[in-house]
Amino acid sequence: MAMDLHSCAVAGDAGDLLVTRVYPVPARSQRTPFQRDRDRIVQSRSFRRLAGKTQVFTRRASDHFRSRLTHTIEVVQIARDVAASLGLNEDLAETLALVHDIGHPPFGHAGERALDECLRAHGLRFDHNLHALRIVQFFEQRYAAHRGLNLTLGVREGIIKHSRDYTAAEHPELAEYFLGQYPPLEAQLIDLADEIAYLTADLDDGVESGLLEIGHIREHVGILRRCYQRVAREYTGVDEKRLFYEALQWMQHALVDDLIHSIRGNVTSAGASSLAEVRAARHRLAALSPETETERIEEKQYLYDTLYTCAAQVEEHAIAAEVVKGLFDFWVAHPDRLPQSYIADIPAEGLARTVADYIAGMTDSFIFHQYEQLIG
Ligand code: MG
Repeated sequence: MAMDLHSCAVAGDAGDLLVTRVYPVPARSQRTPFQRDRDRIVQSRSFRRLAGKTQVFTRRASDHFRSRLTHTIEVVQIARDVAASLGLNEDLAETLALVHDIGHPPFGHAGERALDECLRAHGLRFDHNLHALRIVQFFEQRYAAHRGLNLTLGVREGIIKHSRDYTAAEHPELAEYFLGQYPPLEAQLIDLADEIAYLTADLDDGVESGLLEIGHIREHVGILRRCYQRVAREYTGVDEKRLFYEALQWMQHALVDDLIHSIRGNVTSAGASSLAEVRAARHRLAALSPETETERIEEKQYLYDTLYTCAAQVEEHAIAAEVVKGLFDFWVAHPDRLPQSYIADIPAEGLARTVADYIAGMTDSFIFHQYEQLIG
């Protein structure tokens, strides 16, 4: 049997520092602390709003395009699969996958860029991981005793550090999150699970949108071409679309298998046999193999060239930027028109940050409605 990495996993039991909360809660039912966090996230308002936020395609020409919510569910599938295969803490991986995109503003990356530009003019930045932390700590208000969801330390650390590292010099306010150390494997793998989910989904949605063509993808994306050729040899007399969908599944399996294999290999070569050693390793131990990483980069470049920056998307992005910037400027000029709860945050957070917090929480349809009403 292949080596399992149980000794490097987050324990998640009662004595584990990573399951501590700012406000201690009595143990309840059979749920583990991370399962409890999962349920808190699933029942939050920001989680439900993921259904109304863009993944890649802003205005739905098809009901079949991914939203941030369906994308999130796909990331959960992959993250659980990888964590289970390696003997890691599945509950923590699942919870981090569920929450990984909760800090994204409307209109996908175009919305994020626009909001960041608005804030730069005020000497601030927008970072979706840090914003996700603000959401779970302040903006979700479901408990009488405190603001926020009161999540465990392990989940909060994973929220900010799953895809990048922060230095203590730049972010003294994040001191409790083990800065200068890598996060546990359960958090590290989320970034790759996210990547695998959208590398598969964006080819699928790209074809659905009519912007990508199966033959063209096969010509330019090596990993898909190889899967397609094997599928076509195995199934004769099946139409191109079904072969393509089958090939997409094979491609996703190949990426997931590579990730599992590669994490196991990296942990072994680093000689890590505990969470502390994973944290102190010379680099992140969750990564694809070098060969698959090359194929990942090739596919991502293809998606950039053909999909993310195609004329139709550029037009959508321009609309997104206009809506976000128009409303940001409007509320900065008229703070009295913000909802009462946000007006109350201005003295502590400052006007620009408060306006950005409000906009970042919106769904695509809500922000369009605001734009029509206030700016038209
Ligand atoms: Mg994502």
